Amino acid sequence: MANIIIMGPQGCGKGTHSSKIAERYGIPTISTGDLFRDNIALGTPLGLLAKSFIDKGELVPDQVTVDLLNKRLEAKDCENGFILDGFPRTVNQAKLLDKSLKKNKEEVDLVLYFDLPKKESKRRMLGRVTCVDCKQIYNRSNYFADNCEKCGGKLFVRDDDKEEAIEKRLANFEKQTLPVKYYYEEKGKVISIDMMGSVEENRVKLYAELDIFDKKTTM
Ligand code: ADP
Ligand code: ZN
Repeated sequence: MANIIIMGPQGCGKGTHSSKIAERYGIPTISTGDLFRDNIALGTPLGLLAKSFIDKGELVPDQVTVDLLNKRLEAKDCENGFILDGFPRTVNQAKLLDKSLKKNKEEVDLVLYFDLPKKESKRRMLGRVTCVDCKQIYNRSNYFADNCEKCGGKLFVRDDDKEEAIEKRLANFEKQTLPVKYYYEEKGKVISIDMMGSVEENRVKLYAELDIFDKKTTM
């Protein structure tokens, strides 16, 4: 059983590493960004509402986001825990999450904070492309093909990966999401990992930290 939050500034490698962490613990990765994009693709009323915020680089209102997430967490595949990517993004969301977990006598077990300077975050986002089918993210600095390596899907630039939206998202992160890290730090839940290195270097650091965490929790 592990309830894990992965957080960090845009471009920190959450998407790159979350699927492997999910495999390690046999739990699903849930990305609120993906949940919104699925709703947008299906043209649901929630999707339409979310899109009006997302395209401008703004956060979707807390209540809309929390309701959507809570519904997802009720699914059977979350029985043994979950990894949250992109949630909570405000302290209010964190408190609402803690409250609904508490109802089931659960809590957040671990917060992985992927640390990255703002300048590097921006640089990585500017080259970002996403697979239209499996949502895998690539960066133009090291991936040049037109199609996804995993599933062959077409790669595209998300509207919110365009420059004006990027500036806003970075500012949002500092103002609204960094306090979430402090909130969980007070509870002693945070492991911070420096993500400036290569994907492989970061993976090694990350796994070393997870090994330590696993030992602690099985003792
Ligand atoms: P990134 O993490 O790179 O910003 P995401 O795919 O996680 O990309 O999210 C895309 C957009 O969806 C965000 O910019 C925001 O508008 C919206 N969003 C995602 N998660 C949340 C959340 N927890 N609260 C509010 N808005 C969210
Ligand atoms: Zn793909």
